[in-house]
Amino acid sequence: MRRLDNSARRNHSYEMSATKVDVAVVGAGIVGLAHAYLAARAGRRVAVFERNPAALGASIRNFGMIWPIGQPAGALHKMALRSRELWLEILDQAKLPSSQTGSLHVTYREDEAAVGQEFSQKAPSLGYECTWLTPQETLKRSHAIRPEGLLGALWSPTELTVDPREVIRSFPQFLAERYGVQFFFNTAVQRVTESFVQSGNQQWGADAIIVASGDDFQTLFPECFRQSGVTRCKLQMMRTVPQPQSWKLGPSLAFGLTFKHYPTFQVCTTLDALKDRIARETPELDEWGIHVLVSQTSRGELTIGDTHEYGLVVDIFDKPALNRIILHYARKYLRVPTLEIAEEWHGVYAKHPDLPYMSISPEGGVRVVTVTSGIGMTMSFGIAEETLRAMGITA
Ligand SMILES: Cc1cc2nc3c(=O)[nH]c(=O)nc-3n(C[C@H](O)[C@H](O)[C@H](O)COP(=O)(O)OP(=O)(O)OC[C@H]3O[C@@H](n4cnc5c(N)ncnc54)[C@H](O)[C@@H]3O)c2cc1C
Repeated sequence: MRRLDNSARRNHSYEMSATKVDVAVVGAGIVGLAHAYLAARAGRRVAVFERNPAALGASIRNFGMIWPIGQPAGALHKMALRSRELWLEILDQAKLPSSQTGSLHVTYREDEAAVGQEFSQKAPSLGYECTWLTPQETLKRSHAIRPEGLLGALWSPTELTVDPREVIRSFPQFLAERYGVQFFFNTAVQRVTESFVQSGNQQWGADAIIVASGDDFQTLFPECFRQSGVTRCKLQMMRTVPQPQSWKLGPSLAFGLTFKHYPTFQVCTTLDALKDRIARETPELDEWGIHVLVSQTSRGELTIGDTHEYGLVVDIFDKPALNRIILHYARKYLRVPTLEIAEEWHGVYAKHPDLPYMSISPEGGVRVVTVTSGIGMTMSFGIAEETLRAMGITA
């Protein structure tokens, strides 16, 4: 058992937990769970600390899209593909469903089609498996899109969809049963040193500590965040009632707007014309960072979003007008049995202007790992593998 730090001993009476672990993880969102899985799989004794009765942050509020096509060519795209492999591994072990449907970026305007076609030509040399589909080929892949005015789509086979609510609820139980990972819910960690984590008057010793606290920049190592330029991004989301059982979305859907959103497509010389036209015709889409993505849960509901509002202060009130813009866009291009909305919510993730994620070591044996763009579901397992390798925790 670890010795208590002397200053702590002088000021308070702390109770040391009976067990010391090899790896302590703060946060039971997907980033924390990915670290817990890979550390436990490497034979380490792992404990996860979560302040809420269940993880309620970005990881249960997202589309569940594992989306390698959103990552720019090179190291990040490779990491996304590796992360995807690890996702499939854990889903298989935990006996949870995933839909390996691939994705379509569907185009209805000449400038959108130009970007899709240019990217499909560059894709093989950049390491993507994308191909350009004619309207007829697109409609063979997806019966969920309207044929009127369709110009074609960029097809990518690498995207998969999970149900975030199912995953975030089930992974802790799986990790506890299969790998003996200990979970401490309702346990807000208030202090982390190189050798212990502390919540209230309890301390747990650990050789390595990973802080995966999402967009909580205040509680642990606030100085790491204060200087970093990190802020927050709020997204509004919707979910339909279940579609009829026999109806399947097929590939997850993005549209021409999404070419603007992901850095992947910045290699396209045709992108500027698309950006100019959107700024001219529909400035409200730029103002609220709206692009439209559609995925389907295993229960048949469609998840539809989203908006992007930046700033440390998150508006607690949602804007119905933005959801109407998204639904108007969706109705224009989607041909689905029902767009009756059953749920609306918002989620928040950490956002840095340049960095896709931050991995900071404020003290020996401690890593603060924060995904600072909207890619944490996709990248979680890849980032976790990188963190653990850097900390010398490998199988
Ligand atoms: C609406 C929305 C849609 C998105 N869609 C996608 C998508 O489809 N694909 C994709 O790749 N990414 C997507 N993202 C991004 C992705 O969801 C996030 O990047 C990812 O979930 C971040 O995971 P996390 O574990 O770091 O954070 P979180 O899920 O927020 O988890 C952090 C956890 O840490 C806990 N915690 C914090 N501080 C403490 C403490 N001191 N003590 C104990 N516990 C603590 C919190 O309670 C929380 O449960 C989306 C995000 C949003 C908001």
